[in-house]
Amino acid sequence: MARKKQFKAESKRLLDLMINSIYTHKEIFLRELISNASDAIDKLYYKSLSENLSDIDQNAFKIHLEIDKENRTLSISDNGLGMNKEELEENLGTIAKSGSFAFKQELEEKDEKEDAVDIIGQFGVGFYSAFMVANRVDVVSKKYGEETAYIWSSDASDGYTIEETSKDDCGTTITLYLKDNTDDENYDEYLAQYEIERLIKKYSDYIRYPIEMWVEEQ
Ligand code: ADP
Ligand code: MG
Repeated sequence: MARKKQFKAESKRLLDLMINSIYTHKEIFLRELISNASDAIDKLYYKSLSENLSDIDQNAFKIHLEIDKENRTLSISDNGLGMNKEELEENLGTIAKSGSFAFKQELEEKDEKEDAVDIIGQFGVGFYSAFMVANRVDVVSKKYGEETAYIWSSDASDGYTIEETSKDDCGTTITLYLKDNTDDENYDEYLAQYEIERLIKKYSDYIRYPIEMWVEEQ
C-alpha cells in the first residue's frame, strides 16, 4: 500500500466545501470532467500537429462514459495526453495550478458558507467537483510517450494515494464511486443513461470530440 499524502490546506478547504455541498447543481461535475477530458485531447491533438506524430489518429479522439449500475460507478475516459506521476500529484493534489484557483480566491472573500455555495455555479469549479457526487474518485492515467501508468485515488477526507498500475493506451479514466442516496439526494440518477444524456446535451453540447456511452446493466 502506498503512503497516504495529505492535500494542501488550500485544496482541503475547497474539497470540504464540495464534499458537504448542499449545492443544488451538483450535476455540473459532469461538465467539469468532460471539459477536462476535452482539454486533454486538445493537448495531444496540438502536440501531434506540432511534432508531426504519425502514431496519433486524430479521428480516433473521443470521450467515453461508462455506467456500472451494480458497482454504482460512473467513469469518464479520454484518449488525450494523460498525466505522469508528477502531474497527477501537481494537478490533482493542489489547486494552485488550476482554474479552480479563481474560484478559491472568490471563496476566500466570502464569510458565510451559504454565500460560498452560491458562487459554485459561476465558476469552472474543476476536478474537485467530482466529490459533490462521489465519496471516492480513482484517476488512472498514462501520459503519451511514457511507459508507466498510475492510479491516483482519494476519498477526499483522508488524502490521496498514487500507485503504479497498468493501462494500454495513453489518456485518463476517472471513476466516480457515487455517494449513498440520502432522503434528500438521489445519486442513482447519475447511473441512468437518459439523465447522463440530458446532462451532456445541457452542458457539453459544444464539445468537439465524440462522446460515447456504455451502460453495464445490473
Ligand atoms: P482546470 O481545468 O481549470 O485547469 P481542473 O481542476 O478542472 O482545473 O483540473 C486541474 C488540472 O488537472 C488540469 O489543469 C489538468 O492539468 C489536470 N487534468 C484534469 N483532468 C485531466 C484529464 N482528463 N487528462 C489530463 N489532465 C487532466
Ligand atoms: Mg477543468
